[in-house]
Formats: sequence, C-alpha cells, structure tokens
Amino acid sequence: MRIVFFGPNGSGKGTQAALLKAELTVPHVSTGDLLRAAVKAGTPLGVKARAVMEAGKLVSDEIVLGMLEERLARPDARGGFILDGYPRNLAQCAALETLLARIGQPLDVAIELDVPDRVILERCEIRFRAEHRTDDDPAIVRKRLQVYREQTAPVARHFADLGKLVTVSGVGKVDEVFARILAVLPRAAA
Ligand code: AMP
Repeated sequence: MRIVFFGPNGSGKGTQAALLKAELTVPHVSTGDLLRAAVKAGTPLGVKARAVMEAGKLVSDEIVLGMLEERLARPDARGGFILDGYPRNLAQCAALETLLARIGQPLDVAIELDVPDRVILERCEIRFRAEHRTDDDPAIVRKRLQVYREQTAPVARHFADLGKLVTVSGVGKVDEVFARILAVLPRAAA
C-alpha cells in the first residue's frame, strides 16, 4: 500500500502514521526525519539544509527529492510506504508522480487529516503549558498553520483532481481517528 499522509502540526499525524505503519508493515518515510538525520550526520546535503530548516523555510525541491529517491530505493520500501511531509507544493507533486511512475509504485491514496485550527490551537496550548516545547508557542503555531493552509490547499486539490484524496476528521480519541483511517483505506490493504 502506497500512501501520502498529510495534516498540520498538532493534527495527530505522527501518532496516526505510527499506528498505520504497524498495521500495514510498510515504512513511515518522513522527509523531515530524513533531513534531520542528514543534518545530524553532517552530510554535504545536511549542511546545506540546516540553515534553511532553522529559518523555518522549505529546503530546495532538488535536495528533498534526491533524499526521497534514495529512501524509496531501499528494499523495505518495495512493498509500499507511508509518505509524510512530501509533497509540500505543486512542483513536488509533479516530481513525485514522475518518480513513482519510474519505480513502478503508483500512489494508492492520499489521506488528509483534517482538524480545525481552533482545536489545533487548544491542543498545542495544553502541550505548551505542560512541556514548554517552543514549537507549541501559540504565536508560532498560528504562523505554521497559516503556512500549512497556504501551501497544502493546492496539494490537496491536486490529489482530489486525480481522484485519490480522502479527508478524514482528526477530531476525537486516537483510536476513533485510527478506525476512520482504516475504514477509508483501499480494499487491497484491508
Ligand atoms: P517536518 O518534520 O515535516 O515538519 O519538516 C521539518 C523541516 O524540514 C521543514 O520545516 C522544512 O524545512 C524541511 N522539509 C521537510 N519536508 C520537506 C519538503 N517536502 N520540502 C521542503 N522542505 C521540507
């Protein structure tokens, strides 16, 4: 099963992706994780990416695509993958389509985890008070949400045009949301 999984920070995407990975036994491929690993390892690409990431901007399409290509070529991704954090813009949508066609792994479904901004702000505020994570600071969460809404709307439309977009409500308990996700997976995965 080949899935693109997307949703804003605080939507519960990480939690749900982990559950889905266990259910489908396919790797969870997060471009954010791949980039953070490259930064930590100090590879040439990591060195380039670091400053961009620290500024909260998007790393160049070329760098991210190269990393993704390498990751999807690994044997554990032959049976499918859950892609997280990619594509983030329309150029990346096109690049992904070309890459997946070339490796003979077309996408099955794009799942969007939908949580209203009000709920995300509430969740992050509670976590901010408890854990003091700087990225949960309400001002930063608002800014990220704005960027997410701007950049993701065209990506969602792209998958909708291909007839591959499924939107799932991310409001409620973890197991309730997970049950909704399982219910929308194409039959082949069930
Ligand atoms: P994330 O963990 O998905 O929030 O990603 C963390 C950071 O990595 C982002 O703020 C970007 O700087 C960079 N990044 C992750 N995925 C991409 C992507 N698909 N395109 C460009 N930059 C990305």
